[in-house]
Amino acid sequence: MNKPVLLVVDDDPHVLAAVRRDLRSRYRDQYTVVSAASGSEALDTARELKGRGDALAMIISDQRMPGMLGGEVLARTRDVYPLARRVLLTAYSDIEAAIRAINEAHLDHYLSKPWDPPEEKLFPVVDDLLEAWQAESPPEATGLRLVGHQWATRSHEIKDFLAGNLIPYRWLDVERDPDARLLLEAAGAGANDLPALFFEDGGVLRNPEPRQIAERLGRPLSAAFDVYDLVVVGAGPAGLAAAVYGASEGLRTLLLDRHGPGGQAGTSSRIENYLGFPAGVSGTELTRRAITQAQRLGAEFLAPLEVAGVAVDGGYKRLRLADGRELVTKTLLAATGMFYREHPAPGVAEHTGAGVYYGAATTEGSVFGGRRVVVVGGGNSAGQGAMYLARYAKEVEIVVRREGLAETMSQYLVEQIAKTSNIRIRPRTEVASVEGRDRVERVTLRSVDDGSCRSEEVDAVFIFIGTRPRTDWLPAGVLRDAKGFVLTGRDLMASESYAKTWKETREPLLLETSVPGVFAAGDVRAGAMNRVASAVGEGSMVVRLAHEYLALT
Ligand SMILES: Cc1cc2nc3c(=O)[nH]c(=O)nc-3n(C[C@H](O)[C@H](O)[C@H](O)COP(=O)(O)OP(=O)(O)OC[C@H]3O[C@@H](n4cnc5c(N)ncnc54)[C@H](O)[C@@H]3O)c2cc1C
Repeated sequence: MNKPVLLVVDDDPHVLAAVRRDLRSRYRDQYTVVSAASGSEALDTARELKGRGDALAMIISDQRMPGMLGGEVLARTRDVYPLARRVLLTAYSDIEAAIRAINEAHLDHYLSKPWDPPEEKLFPVVDDLLEAWQAESPPEATGLRLVGHQWATRSHEIKDFLAGNLIPYRWLDVERDPDARLLLEAAGAGANDLPALFFEDGGVLRNPEPRQIAERLGRPLSAAFDVYDLVVVGAGPAGLAAAVYGASEGLRTLLLDRHGPGGQAGTSSRIENYLGFPAGVSGTELTRRAITQAQRLGAEFLAPLEVAGVAVDGGYKRLRLADGRELVTKTLLAATGMFYREHPAPGVAEHTGAGVYYGAATTEGSVFGGRRVVVVGGGNSAGQGAMYLARYAKEVEIVVRREGLAETMSQYLVEQIAKTSNIRIRPRTEVASVEGRDRVERVTLRSVDDGSCRSEEVDAVFIFIGTRPRTDWLPAGVLRDAKGFVLTGRDLMASESYAKTWKETREPLLLETSVPGVFAAGDVRAGAMNRVASAVGEGSMVVRLAHEYLALT
């Protein structure tokens, strides 16, 4: 297979030669650098590369070119190579155009001319973007391959596990992909073995549990120490931030998650409002960076591992894992966030994983190319999901009970949706039922005004409604509000049960729960802001508070 390509576009031969020279000096061994002297030549080159089956990793285009501006070149190559990283080369005076291109061309970065010295201004940016591209690009012929039925719940579970744990794999639908049959025949695998996971070394796991996959991939599932300073339960943004700060500030820190790293944010197709990412960042990319950072600084990470209960034993907290084992820690952070409430309509439960998905737009979206899908919900997560699905699906219908999206969704998403021709909003409507034989084929929509119903043919329903905290594993002594969210600090002191529960002579610390040394951060906490940034902020703060608690004991 040919090396992936870096495509450079500039009408100025001197600049073109300089970028080419710098890129070749560093990336020659892994990438081929190809150049084009105009926008139209770049589009032709991209089509040619696609025709030859080559991978395009990055396009770097100058903004000011006669005929076609760089922003347009980057936007138009998106149809051919959606995953390629896009960099605009700008003069200082073009920075406004570059900022506009972030939305229009889905720009990943803009680079001001001149970029000397390249070791400081060019290579770190390109290294970073290429690493992200490699993480996102599906391995082609080799690597991990998952064979199964598209409409089987088990196939969805394993896809979700692999994607959630940032494990690249290739999906082969047994009914559509001839390679799937060849692989199954070679392994002597039958229908009962599906879904089957094929490894690069020729090994096969038949209908595996996530834990078996983790073991086979050599992921650690046992703690290295008997006692920790800080155990963080939940590896969403709050837990990841706590692990980064805990490890970097000298606490023996263990992070664990029942699924994988990233939490709800990990399922987001594009987070646009997290500080420091002017072009937005996908949940997968943010997670990849955060978990790498936490582990590099010395935090231990175990997944999939679920905590089932906690017993408080003097200054120690004993965590009971769902597999029966135990972990001991001096301080504990509950960062278990929340999850989508089940949709009560008839047919939803039976079709979950077979056309009905909770969140999961990024895991399943590409399967629905050219089809019609429904998104249920009016929050930001539903908006992002709809935008992502609109890249693939023929039509996306957003079903909401309110008048529209303005009250519940950020303005930037409302505007993006309004500009997307294949998304339609169905206000004052709800899903009455989901029907189909082995998979979703129809949905009945009901007007919330007059109760009238209509049945429509659809291929999938993506649900993004109401949320519930994940607190069932916490001991009863941890006080919660009426909806089950954990009370901390001053909110705790305002609770009626505070005096009966809190027995210390000091007041609870800012994010401390009613059990001393047990903290809560992020969406699981009563009064949380439900944002990535606030979860990260709270997770980071907990480490300081854990130090304070440890100093008291
Ligand atoms: C699709 C989507 C898009 C979003 N987009 C944005 C956005 O653009 N901007 C923004 O600011 N916010 C966004 N949000 C909100 C943001 O993602 C959340 O506020 C944030 O993820 C909360 O982080 P957290 O760490 O508190 O919890 P979570 O992200 O919910 O993570 C909790 C983790 O705990 C684990 N867990 C739960 N129970 C257990 C247990 N018993 N044992 C072990 N592990 C357990 C779960 O598996 C999960 O990984 C979005 C949310 C969604 C769903």
